Amino acid sequence: MKCNYCNEIFDGDDSILVHFRHLGKNHYDVLTDVDKIMYDTRKKMIESKQEYDSQKQNDGDSDLVFNSRYSKD
Ligand SMILES: [Zn+2]
Repeated sequence: MKCNYCNEIFDGDDSILVHFRHLGKNHYDVLTDVDKIMYDTRKKMIESKQEYDSQKQNDGDSDLVFNSRYSKD
């Protein structure tokens, strides 16, 4: 998919998430009302999913959680 606000192209499995982060980082100030609503909605969904995932991880092996946290980015 192509960014509506610049010429950046996103593809691959994570394209929706990468594009979402790109919008928030680069274009949030100029998002249209509709895009802003979609962005905020998606953000809430991602945050609740992350809460769910971290709760799931807390029930699992704590070493694995530690390693995955510190190997990201
Ligand atoms: Zn862009």
